[in-house]
Amino acid sequence: MVIASRVWNEIKANLSSAKVYLKEFLFFNTILIFILFFLIETKIILSTLIFLILFFNLVFLNAIGYKRNKELNAIKSVISGIRRNIFNLPEDIKLSYNLHSLQEEIQQMFEKERSDIEYLKKLERIRTEFLANVSHELRTPIFAIQGYIETLLDGAINDDRVNKNFLDKANQHTINLSNLLNDLIDISMIESGEMRMSYRYFNINDYINQIIQEMMPLAKEKKIELIYHPAGEGLQLFGDKARLKQAFVNLITNAIKYTEQGKVEVLIEEEQKHGKIIIRDTGIGIPPEDINRIFERFYRVDKARSRDIGGTGLGLAIVKHIIEAHNSKIEVKSELGVGSEFSFRLKK
Ligand code: ADP
Repeated sequence: MVIASRVWNEIKANLSSAKVYLKEFLFFNTILIFILFFLIETKIILSTLIFLILFFNLVFLNAIGYKRNKELNAIKSVISGIRRNIFNLPEDIKLSYNLHSLQEEIQQMFEKERSDIEYLKKLERIRTEFLANVSHELRTPIFAIQGYIETLLDGAINDDRVNKNFLDKANQHTINLSNLLNDLIDISMIESGEMRMSYRYFNINDYINQIIQEMMPLAKEKKIELIYHPAGEGLQLFGDKARLKQAFVNLITNAIKYTEQGKVEVLIEEEQKHGKIIIRDTGIGIPPEDINRIFERFYRVDKARSRDIGGTGLGLAIVKHIIEAHNSKIEVKSELGVGSEFSFRLKK
């Protein structure tokens, strides 16, 4: 009894699943019965045939429904498997031979979903790291300023031996803080795609001469020679002047900051389709193990030294973004104790 009811339930389920083909079946049967009606005159044979046709139709619909149900169940179990994360590899997803192309589609979707999730996790990790770095970077100058102000309020303000010095130091930290905030605003604008670029041709000699004039006092202060070797007369390069200025200023400032004695040179090498811009210094150099990381946000070879000289750790990350926005690449060569050379190309 139980078995009979189970079989009946299964047949019902199969027929219900085969309902999608009912229209085609009815159409085919109507035509068949219509033809038989004209061909066979004997009523008893005709009704037997019609009965047989209907019976085999039911058997056939049951078989089709059964197959369809099986395939749908296999697809359902794959989808629920994906939802429950039971597959490790796309190859673990298997469907019957008939559903091979669907299997491939699902495998590709699975792969894409997996890489999207990986990417989102990576972004989340970067975001958390960035937030931790920003908080740390903000804390350093704020704590220092707070420390100096508290000491001054506690009485040091009346001590002429230290009061000016403490104020100078607090002031230096507010400058660092403001530099950090400006760099943070720049980098978030660049990374969110809000930075509008405006490209045009400009005379590179005039442009760099101007920047060199502006940076000269900084070099003089450190008794470092700042030299520009001009390109061939009238050379025009293509780029966003305002953004490039930020890159030049960051690179030249670094070159001066990380050079104790000697010179900082800016050179242009004219190539067939590009102008190669080189900023070379005779500074402390960068250790080989750090050279690939200096363009990362907040990465510094010597954290204390960078902070002491007002570095934010974001300068080269900003330079990299700006140069890449020009479809170019920033390159660096360096030798410890000898000097460093940063270069990039701009279109002629
Ligand atoms: P920072 O504000 O610390 O200068 P940057 O992103 O500009 O940050 O530079 C990252 C790090 O790369 C610096 O902390 C420094 O260690 C190293 N660096 C950059 N430019 C030079 C250079 N010209 N010579 C030596 N080291 C450099």
